[in-house]
Amino acid sequence: MPQPSDSSTRGDADPTAIDQASEKTATTTLSYTLDSGDRIVSVGGDWDGFARDNDGSEILARTVIGRRLDEFITGDATRMFVRTMLMSARTLKRSIRRPYRCDSPQFRRLMEMTIVPLAQEMLDVRHHQIRAEPLPYTITIAAVTSTAASGFVKRCSICNRIRAGKVWSEVDAAVIDGRLAAAAAAALRVIYGVCPDCLHSAGHRHP
Ligand SMILES: [Zn+2]
Repeated sequence: MPQPSDSSTRGDADPTAIDQASEKTATTTLSYTLDSGDRIVSVGGDWDGFARDNDGSEILARTVIGRRLDEFITGDATRMFVRTMLMSARTLKRSIRRPYRCDSPQFRRLMEMTIVPLAQEMLDVRHHQIRAEPLPYTITIAAVTSTAASGFVKRCSICNRIRAGKVWSEVDAAVIDGRLAAAAAAALRVIYGVCPDCLHSAGHRHP
């Protein structure tokens, strides 16, 4: 998803820092405005503070303005998903809201993205955290960028579930069911995509 940083990719982060970052995002809305070509023309909210807390120094506000949103989204499926939502907001000329997950190693974080159409095909996009719940154990995720790599599982960028065996499920549920070893869950190598359920909901509006 187009968010300042996927903090779940961090490795040996200090747990205190995670708590602080989590509290920070709970009260902060991050926003950006896109032009008709999906280029970022302005950003709002405590963007720089969030970037610093989440080790996303490369996406400080001053460096993202003028760049295409696509550049900040990992994976073709996720890019397609986001493009579908942007297109829906422009076509329907209505706001679109979509919940998604942006877990950190110790928290399930339920987020929401709101896309508001503006004049001249521009869009206002806002991300905010709805709630964070502690995970039963720390899950460290490393993204694999090439399908030539081995030993990875697919993870959905939108709902953060993984495909273990033939089933899409939460990481902890996959461990409980024995579809994923606990040791593997503690240091997951994932390749990002969009699961069939989320793909199906891409063009649908959420109340
Ligand atoms: Zn999904």
